[in-house]
Amino acid sequence: MPTSPINLYDLSVADLAELMQAWGQPSFRAKQLYRHLYVLRTASPQEMTDFPKALRERLASETALGGLTLVKRLVGDDGMTRKVLWQLPDKSPVETVLMIYPDRATVCVSSQSGCPMQCVFCATGKLGFLHDLTSGQIIEQVMWAERELAEVRAAGNQDVPQGLTNIVFMGMGEPFNNYDQWWTSVERLHDPAGYNMGARNFTVSTVGLVPGILRLAEASLPINLAISLHAAQDDVRSAMMPVNKRYPIAELIAATRVYTEKTRRRVSFEYVLLKEENDFPEQAAQLGQLLRPKGEPPLLCHVNLIPWNPVPGTPLGRSDRRRVLNFQSVLREHGVPCTVRVERGVDIAAACGQLAGE
Ligand code: SAH
Repeated sequence: MPTSPINLYDLSVADLAELMQAWGQPSFRAKQLYRHLYVLRTASPQEMTDFPKALRERLASETALGGLTLVKRLVGDDGMTRKVLWQLPDKSPVETVLMIYPDRATVCVSSQSGCPMQCVFCATGKLGFLHDLTSGQIIEQVMWAERELAEVRAAGNQDVPQGLTNIVFMGMGEPFNNYDQWWTSVERLHDPAGYNMGARNFTVSTVGLVPGILRLAEASLPINLAISLHAAQDDVRSAMMPVNKRYPIAELIAATRVYTEKTRRRVSFEYVLLKEENDFPEQAAQLGQLLRPKGEPPLLCHVNLIPWNPVPGTPLGRSDRRRVLNFQSVLREHGVPCTVRVERGVDIAAACGQLAGE
């Protein structure tokens, strides 16, 4: 949902040029402003000291660096996981999570407020769909994470990278349901003249919207794709994820094959493990057969097992360590590369599927 005043992060260089021209500014101003936003990451117009005072004042009164209001900040994992809760003008929630490791720093960004997909195991789905975020509201979350990371580093922590290394679209919402705004944010954040994040450092996760997968296969930037699979049987998957009735497994796998053949890039399948729902060894074997079908070339993929993070008010259970490792070893016997996702943020409800805007 657009915000007033103008969110500067919603504007391309061309849009900034139009604005500066309308304000009677010289033509070089737009590039200068773009540099302030994405290279210098100047915190406010007042600090753009190479600008005339009148321009700084006009920027301060008619524009904003962002369209989200920060309402709460939580710190977990000894300071290495940080979550913020934002609000849109109508108070709808948005959340962003920063995860710091010695060798990398990842921001997990939301693309929508709430989510329309209604996966039974996910806290965000309980909110229903509230709003699509604009590209500027998506970008703003990344800029927050950079500032937050800089603060942690400034506090004297040696084990903190210089800047963000990864941007993952795995927060609230379904990115392919808000494809245009989401993709605009990717292109902007990638722009070598600006923020300059490498294409391979982005990962988008989809519930399995086939048109989005096919569209990404044709995209100009080689970003990473993760697909929430969660079951290899249609009845099990449909019970967990209503989207499976629209795009069943065979169709999803066919689209994934189009994607891997077109891009030559490996996709990552996410698989949330729910106790005695989708974590039986026979189900791992069926998943192995799905991804390594006899008589066909193997699908270029990797499986990321995610032990389910508890969501209040659901009757579901979390697979214990033994069932997780067993599932993993059956998959490996089928020749499928498989890892178990490292847990972060459980203590502050910032882990996968726990973003409920509370
Ligand atoms: N809409 C996108 C991104 C959302 S979340 C998608 O569906 O892929 C990122 C991942 O967390 C998805 O794989 C999602 O299925 C998973 N997830 C959701 N709830 C979870 C929970 N409670 N525990 C662990 N993972 C969960």
